[in-house]
Amino acid sequence: MKIAVFPGSFDPITKGHESIVKRALPLFDKIIVGIGENSSKSRMFTLEKRIAWIKATFATEKKIEVQTYKGLTVDFCKAQNANFILRGLRSTIDFEYEQPIAQMNNELNNNIESFFLITEPKYSAISSSIVKEIYKHGGDVSNFIPDTCKLY
Ligand code: ADP
Repeated sequence: MKIAVFPGSFDPITKGHESIVKRALPLFDKIIVGIGENSSKSRMFTLEKRIAWIKATFATEKKIEVQTYKGLTVDFCKAQNANFILRGLRSTIDFEYEQPIAQMNNELNNNIESFFLITEPKYSAISSSIVKEIYKHGGDVSNFIPDTCKLY
């Protein structure tokens, strides 16, 4: 079984995340969207809401599941029998951020490969942080989040 973990905060899930998972789907038998609970980033939306939105986004996809985890991503992967970490790249800034993480993850467990997909151009400006900023000030974020998600 080829199992990938797509780790992140998903605060909230965006069309960028949705697209990466859907494009990676033919390559894996299962993709686990893993919500990491211990990063230092501050969260706007509760874990329950973030889980619900991810579930709604992939409701019709049997190969995709959602889980939360604490601790190292490589340890979570091992516990899930996942040999791949899936990440999306929007820009060289993402690349510079991701490179040492992927290299260190490889040092920690060389059975786990990081796998990167470059974002579709139409989603390259979308980030959870910008969606939060727009949402906070009452702007319309519906074009940036999956169609099945209604932020509340
Ligand atoms: P993190 O807090 O780990 O950065 P995010 O939830 O922000 O988690 O993102 C999870 C993954 O999705 C990361 O690999 C990130 O680069 C990727 N990602 C975020 N937004 C987009 C987008 N618009 N297009 C493609 N990938 C994206």
